[in-house]
Amino acid sequence: MMPPEMTPDDVLSRIPVVEAHVPGATILHPLRRYIQIATLVLLVLIPASGLFRIDLVSGGVVMLGWQVWFSDIFIIMGFWILIASLLIMMYSLVGAVFCGWLCPQNTVSEWANAMTSKLLGRRALMMDTSGERMQVATQRKSLANYMLLGLLLLGASLVYALIPMFYFFSPQAIWSFVSFRYDPELAGGLHWIYIVFVFLMLTDITIIRHLLCKYMCIYRVWQHSFKTRDTLHISYDDSRSDHCANCHYCVDSCFLDIDPRRPEVFDSCVNCGACVVACDQLHSKSKKLEGPGLLRLTFGDEWKGKYRGMLGSFFSRARTVTITGIAGALIFSYGVVNYQPASFSVYRADSEQGNMVLNYRVNIAYKVDRPETMHIRVDGLAADEFSLQKDSVHFDTSGRKDVILHLRDNLPEGLHRFRVTVTSDGGWTKKFQVVHFVGSKVQAKS
Ligand code: SF4
Ligand code: SF4
Repeated sequence: MMPPEMTPDDVLSRIPVVEAHVPGATILHPLRRYIQIATLVLLVLIPASGLFRIDLVSGGVVMLGWQVWFSDIFIIMGFWILIASLLIMMYSLVGAVFCGWLCPQNTVSEWANAMTSKLLGRRALMMDTSGERMQVATQRKSLANYMLLGLLLLGASLVYALIPMFYFFSPQAIWSFVSFRYDPELAGGLHWIYIVFVFLMLTDITIIRHLLCKYMCIYRVWQHSFKTRDTLHISYDDSRSDHCANCHYCVDSCFLDIDPRRPEVFDSCVNCGACVVACDQLHSKSKKLEGPGLLRLTFGDEWKGKYRGMLGSFFSRARTVTITGIAGALIFSYGVVNYQPASFSVYRADSEQGNMVLNYRVNIAYKVDRPETMHIRVDGLAADEFSLQKDSVHFDTSGRKDVILHLRDNLPEGLHRFRVTVTSDGGWTKKFQVVHFVGSKVQAKS
């Protein structure tokens, strides 16, 4: 029963109205934001967890706590062939989606634009190259707004400039760095390098922002070179173009200044979907415009009026790259199976007596981030002809250690071949052949 004091209009106004949002508006925007944030988190987690890091000391990379040197050619080559193949498949399937959904430069530029719009007004966006001066909204012209924006951009630069450091140093070393504590892992002068990074980052998010995407990013051009007519693209519903009279909302929402109503096969669209969301939101809020938005992200060759199906189309284009990717995976697997966790060499030590080398250095490099003990054995020399500084070395983690092998001066003249063998408790073993020359004129050769 309707209470007597209420009119029918009152009752109607109390019925909750569910807005007829279309999928683009409700899913695309938050999904993209989550993916952008997850990418930033992953960018830190990948090196911080030891999954992938650059090792400046060994001159290689560290994968899952295992050092991979350039001499581990099958792992390096297979890995990059596999990654390159996967990326090419991605470019040809979904275009430059990396730029719109994953790229940290775009993420920070969008965030900087949002903060600028909020604090100084939309016309204060600094990426405008139209020649018009940036204009700050009258009601937002306050010192507090300028200062807050400056502090936010500086804070973001300080945090962003730390991300590359995770690829060179352990999280413990970075914590020492930010808390101004000494850490032997950190090179001297690192704070200066960091300050330069912060300055570059601040310049980027204060002034450059999407100008980098538009005019400087070669990676974006590279991705576009793999686009085909079937690649994911924006599609425009021409049959309802009357909705666009006096509307420019989608064009305004595009940070690349593309008009999504005129999609072209090889335009510079990065499939961010911002225009799709803009048009969907417009339609969901408008009382006059019926139906969903006029834009959508779609696969297929609509320019020829032909749609071959996403997977069929993808595999027809990606056959070669699929084979290359499988080859890369096989090469990588072969490299992993034959991975050598350690390496050693024997070479002349610096100390000489006269011109004759009597000391050799056994240099053992251990590549894995877990404890191991290595045992050294010399074959081919009598026990009274040499002495080892120690016959085993222990590693708590990856690193290099030297053991001096001293040859006594009672060796007769001539060539002496002997072999140094290093064996780990874990079962790894390697032999190194040394040729030592004792000449009548006191010479030595190895
Ligand atoms: S936002 Fe939608 S309605 Fe407006 S111009 Fe773009 S496509 Fe047309
Ligand atoms: S046209 Fe649309 S999808 Fe493409 S970059 Fe611009 S806003 Fe993003």
